[in-house]
Amino acid sequence: MMMATHSSIIIIGSGPAGFTAAIYAGRANLAPIVFEGIQPGGQLTITTEVENFPGFPKGIMGPELMDEMRAQAKRFGAKCLYELVESVDLSVRPFVLKTAGETYTCDALIIATGASAKLLGIPAETALMGHGVSACATCDGFFFRDKEVVVVGGGDSAMEEANFLTKFASKVTLVHRREAFRASKIMVDRMLANPKVDVIYNATVTDILGDKANGVHAVMLKDTVTGEEREFATQGIFMAIGHDPNTKLFGNSLTKDEKGYLAVAPQSTETNVAGVFACGDVADSKYRQAISAAGTGCMAAIDAERYLDAAGLVSH
Ligand code: NAP
Repeated sequence: MMMATHSSIIIIGSGPAGFTAAIYAGRANLAPIVFEGIQPGGQLTITTEVENFPGFPKGIMGPELMDEMRAQAKRFGAKCLYELVESVDLSVRPFVLKTAGETYTCDALIIATGASAKLLGIPAETALMGHGVSACATCDGFFFRDKEVVVVGGGDSAMEEANFLTKFASKVTLVHRREAFRASKIMVDRMLANPKVDVIYNATVTDILGDKANGVHAVMLKDTVTGEEREFATQGIFMAIGHDPNTKLFGNSLTKDEKGYLAVAPQSTETNVAGVFACGDVADSKYRQAISAAGTGCMAAIDAERYLDAAGLVSH
């Protein structure tokens, strides 16, 4: 039988929540294991400059901030692993996590798996992802220099991405399915004042035309009022329609809120399973900021440490 590797605390996820939890758990001498996941460093690794993380008055590049957090976690004994966790069993004690080749067990589990960009769900979107279709303007905007692009969405992200893309694109067309924007007024005003941004209201994207070799040349737009469909020429399309929490790994073993995010007790990171804690974007549909994720990561490590102490699972 294969031997399992045991750790008091395992953290799944390596964004600001996961690494902050690792720093705190490490400093509590709990030598946590961190599974970094499919996007080591999390969503900040696909942004450019982070201007609102306290302590960096001149801003810091997202990937650099995450490298620093990882280094800080390692300094206190965190072990960062790049295997993907394929299954989690929360019905047994200790909890059991399996990767492709290994089995790990832990007494406390901190879930910091974050959220991923939502997609429209049309086949062409996945087929042409990276070939004219993107869900991250800051990652891919550079490839659309002097080209015309479409941004889909009506929230703050769509406003931000539309403005950002005007640095590269010759023209940006924002396509929104309604007449009113969900975004904050200041973001809407900034977008409307940008001479390089046009808006198409009451429209959804029903198809994306192009191929892998030549990229995108048009999208099909459907008027949500008249039902009419038309082809709209564009060389790129950016989805900015929100995010989904990454909870698939846990099936129905954990309680979720009405939006599908992991539910935690008020003012705490405790889930419905004792010894399992959730922090960062996977449990936050409201703030979704790097600093608030880091804050709940800290809370999760403290909650986990107190849980282990109370359960007599660690000796200090
Ligand atoms: P969001 O607020 O949930 O907005 C998503 C937008 O996409 C909505 O306008 C929605 O339309 C549209 N949408 C959703 N599914 C769609 C679909 N299948 N087809 C077409 N359109 C679709 O998400 P977000 O913009 O990513 O913002 C998330 C959170 O982060 C918000 O709290 C936001 O304030 C915050 N944020 C803040 C900043 C900033 O302050 N700098 C920047 C980015 C994000 P409907 O309106 O019709 O539902």
